[in-house]
Amino acid sequence: MALETAALSPENAITTDAVVIGAGPVGLFQVFQLGLQGIQTQVVDALPHVGGQCVELYADKPIYDIPGIRACTGLELAERLQTQAAPFKPSYHLGQQVQTMQRLPDGELLLGTTAGTWLRSKSVILAAGVGAFVPRALKLDGAEQLTAQGQLHYHPSQRNIGALAQGQQVVVLGGDEAAVAAALACVGQAASVTLVHRRDVFTGPDALLAQMAALRSAGQLQVVAGQSAALQQSADGSLQALEVSLPDGGTQALPANLLLAYLGISPKLGPVADWGLALERKQLPVDTARFATAEPGIYAVGDINHYPGKRKLILCGFHEATLAAFAVAEQLQGQPPMLQYTSSSSHLHALLGVPHPGD
Ligand SMILES: Cc1cc2nc3c(=O)[nH]c(=O)nc-3n(C[C@H](O)[C@H](O)[C@H](O)COP(=O)(O)OP(=O)(O)OC[C@H]3O[C@@H](n4cnc5c(N)ncnc54)[C@H](O)[C@@H]3O)c2cc1C
Repeated sequence: MALETAALSPENAITTDAVVIGAGPVGLFQVFQLGLQGIQTQVVDALPHVGGQCVELYADKPIYDIPGIRACTGLELAERLQTQAAPFKPSYHLGQQVQTMQRLPDGELLLGTTAGTWLRSKSVILAAGVGAFVPRALKLDGAEQLTAQGQLHYHPSQRNIGALAQGQQVVVLGGDEAAVAAALACVGQAASVTLVHRRDVFTGPDALLAQMAALRSAGQLQVVAGQSAALQQSADGSLQALEVSLPDGGTQALPANLLLAYLGISPKLGPVADWGLALERKQLPVDTARFATAEPGIYAVGDINHYPGKRKLILCGFHEATLAAFAVAEQLQGQPPMLQYTSSSSHLHALLGVPHPGD
């Protein structure tokens, strides 16, 4: 297997030395280590925020095995890593998935994202974890068409909800904090708001649930326990109602012209598996000196890679990212970079923007 070849690079492609795919903990530390080598990075993540699994799966849980930190939550770790990498001014392209990766005739790599961003790079470091975190889709006939015409949104951010809901008959799907918060944000903006979840049980902070109960009692928010069963659309395809199957076996049609779906986010290896890279059990084999894949210029670090003795731990990913940064620097500069210490190197102090003792 090998990467496909692209004939030409689009004119608007961002040209760079290094692209990091994935802004999980390992991708963020990769940005820092490349920065120490004097390499500025472009970072892409499917999620609208950095932190990967740490933020998406266990943001509030404490982690106890990060060297030198007795305990910090997943969210705190992501914030610390982003702050540590900030002096190197990475460009983040969030909320977009890298969909295509091709080899250009001159050997450089061309990446295209779902948001239409093109990146042309000499090196690519895959820190893609267990895959891109993407929202679970509503599996009903017509759902794709509704997404295309803007009547179905997956996990819209809180700040967009007011504008989306204005004057609409809104149905929010889901039972977690994000779904409840979205339904509450629609109240007062939308013509009607209905929250649909398979059980009349919702999760979220006590204050949010109390606010929800108050709006239910006041008749400003309707809650329906049931499963989405079908979409009712008019002849021109626009949404009329969502049909819900109820626990008693009956059905109810909820008038709707806007659906906001919070059905969870799950990782999909997706495109990484389609680029022609040699995968072994959904992971990329690498050498343990450079963390390079079999494809020139492509490296893999963190949960996405595999080698004898591999352990899927953040601290192992940090080591991998460090050696990968040395390898990328050697690739770009044509010779192995010198080892320098952050405690004493005036060169690294200048890169980090910190004072050098004696200056
Ligand atoms: C519940 C839980 C608790 C854990 N606790 C610990 C712990 O205490 N200590 C520890 O060391 N480890 C722990 N882990 C494991 C740790 O979280 C992982 O090893 C770590 O997150 C791997 O980091 P990563 O950066 O390689 O990948 P991830 O964190 O998975 O990040 C990968 C990122 O890449 C993005 N991505 C993938 N493909 C694409 C694409 N094509 N385009 C754009 N973006 C893409 C994804 O959206 C994701 O954000 C835990 C894991 C879980 C699930």
